[in-house]
Amino acid sequence: MTAVHVPGIPVIEAGQLVSTSPASGVEAGRLPVATDVDVRQAVDRARVAGEWWAGLGFTGRRDRLLRWRALLAKRIEQLAEVVHAEGGKPVPDAIVEIVTAIEHIDWAARNAGRVLGPRRVRSRLILAEFSGHLEYQPHGVVGVIGPWNYPVFTPIGSAAYALAAGNAVVLKPSEYTPVVGQWLVDSFAEVVPEQQVFTAVHGLGDVGAALCRSGVDKLAFTGSTATARKVMAACAETLTPVLIEGGGKDAMIVDSDADLDAAAEACVWGGMTNAGQTCIGIERVYAVDSVFDTFVDKVVTRAGRLTVGPEGADIGPITMPKQIDVIRQHIDAAIASGGRAALGGPTAVQPPYVHPTVLVDVPEDSAAVQEETFGPTLTINRVRDADEAVTRANALPYGLGGSVFGRRRAVAIARRLRSGMASVNSTLTFAGMSTLPFGGVGDSGFGRIHGEDGLREFGRAKAITRRRARSLLPSMTFERTPTDMARLVKAIKVMYGR
Ligand code: NDP
Repeated sequence: MTAVHVPGIPVIEAGQLVSTSPASGVEAGRLPVATDVDVRQAVDRARVAGEWWAGLGFTGRRDRLLRWRALLAKRIEQLAEVVHAEGGKPVPDAIVEIVTAIEHIDWAARNAGRVLGPRRVRSRLILAEFSGHLEYQPHGVVGVIGPWNYPVFTPIGSAAYALAAGNAVVLKPSEYTPVVGQWLVDSFAEVVPEQQVFTAVHGLGDVGAALCRSGVDKLAFTGSTATARKVMAACAETLTPVLIEGGGKDAMIVDSDADLDAAAEACVWGGMTNAGQTCIGIERVYAVDSVFDTFVDKVVTRAGRLTVGPEGADIGPITMPKQIDVIRQHIDAAIASGGRAALGGPTAVQPPYVHPTVLVDVPEDSAAVQEETFGPTLTINRVRDADEAVTRANALPYGLGGSVFGRRRAVAIARRLRSGMASVNSTLTFAGMSTLPFGGVGDSGFGRIHGEDGLREFGRAKAITRRRARSLLPSMTFERTPTDMARLVKAIKVMYGR
């Protein structure tokens, strides 16, 4: 029997996961659905491949990862078309996403040896007769579970760093974007044909759950907070360490001395790029009273100019059809509870599209302020001053990113945001800076991808001490004498007893 295809909703047909465009319903591709046994076998094969990969050392891996990065750069338009065809993302947005991923591969490849490689660590007087040695060894096989909204950037944010650290990777892409996931592993196999170091398993959420239980040595999850809880529970069964990149509800603060044109431009981009389907997207804005009205006008003018449609538009379709109901409910509830649509509103929801919507004066307990909307919508609320803005911004359990526009106090305000990241006088920029760690606090997760912390996330610290001289005050031996111990006590009092 042939399954009915609703545009954008993945179906399983004769053991194949069929992926379609949310805009046109055109099939983007089909991939075999993995059984539990398939997932385990993929992890077993990856374990063998990982040993070979780890054996290449940092230099061997760097060369191969840089070749992969070069291949992605050469095929950037092709990959952008695949992202567009499968998820509906406008091609320019897809290109920006891929550029960022390429930068991360480059940085991870070039810096893994420096950050993770063996090094001497200074010893202290207390154990001066020993030298200290530290290195970060690969875990083995890292499972990567990714979402659909950034199907290149999010898996690569984990996979490139895990690979550079010497791990093999088994990726479970979102059921909404398996074709992009397979494209990534196929391109990697072109430059690393010897062993299956980076592979993918496909299917629905149960395949992700199987990956958690498959014996992977670490699991890097990017997705919603609700699924993160399930992933952690599954990984707890085997004490498999997890990295959680969860959801967000990022706030932007507009202070009284902000450049309002720049703030409005960045706000519209940060809130509406990729149709607002961005974990670090700006969803709520707090503008201080003195600039509120002018700022809202500028946002409405810019957002009102955005085009919506399947091809060549600024805003494409909502990738996951069921999200449209969530967006509609958030808009309706915001207005029912006293909010006002300065742009768009209930009529903006025209499946599979949602037109730009700016909601103002929305009660703070409204779903549009409290929960991920994941559409091209913004709430903008008036605050007395930056302090009130910080209090409101920090009031949610999420804490992923954030943005501050202003001059004198902006950096200080950014530091006070309860979030893993913040950008001052821009939005989302921290995601593309490969030297900075990326990750959240609270319901947005824990652990870090990107940067030096992101590399260390995929290595196990291995500490080694090596004797280099006889112990003057032997204590960690049964050969010690009462005199040795008395001298030790005396030395400690001199060293630390002040
Ligand atoms: P989901 O949590 O629904 O899915 C994420 C991944 O988990 C998918 O591959 C999904 O597979 C898989 N999955 C589903 N159920 C299970 C399970 N029981 N065990 C293991 N894996 C499972 O998120 P979305 O794909 O809808 O992505 C959007 C969410 O991701 C938003 O909340 C967004 O904020 C967040 N996100 C966070 C980022 C960050 O860096 N912090 C970056 C990007 C997005 P399937 O698709 O087949 O169900």
